[in-house]
Amino acid sequence: MKLKTLEISGFKSFADKTTIEFMPGMTGIVGPNGSGKSNIIEAIRWVMGEQRAKDLRGTKMSDVIFGGTHIRHGLNRAEVSMTFDNDDQYLNTLFSEVTITRKLYRSGESVYQINGVDSRLRDVQDLFTDTGLGKESFSIISQGRVESIFNAKPEERRAIIEEVAGVHKYKQNKDKAQRELEQTNDNLSRVGDIIYEIE
Ligand code: ATP
Repeated sequence: MKLKTLEISGFKSFADKTTIEFMPGMTGIVGPNGSGKSNIIEAIRWVMGEQRAKDLRGTKMSDVIFGGTHIRHGLNRAEVSMTFDNDDQYLNTLFSEVTITRKLYRSGESVYQINGVDSRLRDVQDLFTDTGLGKESFSIISQGRVESIFNAKPEERRAIIEEVAGVHKYKQNKDKAQRELEQTNDNLSRVGDIIYEIE
């Protein structure tokens, strides 16, 4: 699985559609202060489902939409698409190429797509669960994150190790099964009460 392209349009400082192609090997992005390097990383986190405006250096989610400059009006829509080569089916889908898209309009309307098909945020998150690529993963280490990992509480550090080791998904399944078991036990005891009353 390989990140092939990132298309950004109307997102933060990227008013016009900008396509970044990732070639084999390492890619470095350089530029003067304030030229938008961090905005590229934030576009990647955003399209993977980031929900916290604060973590994108904003106060509300619509702050990611290009807000205009002294020579240009703001826009009404932000859109980011990220395309992966999935020949090895590392992402849990049969598609050999996967494009995820997120759009946000000033009206508040929000759209997620997987290969052009409208999807739920949950579908996008599921695609990345335990791949090491989710928005919470350690494939993206932002400024300040290294320090926060060092200062994390033991339980938080454990969660980090579980995410890296890929056991997070099984924990989620276990929690779900436990909730269902509790519900079933409740139902059973209710049935027991009814039988007792009838007898
Ligand atoms: P540094 O090297 O200092 O970390 P950088 O290259 O990472 O800088 P960014 O922080 O990505 O730069 O970009 C900051 C720029 O993005 C600022 O000029 C800011 O005005 C602009 N910007 C952020 N949000 C928006 C927005 N919604 N609309 C227009 N411009 C925006």
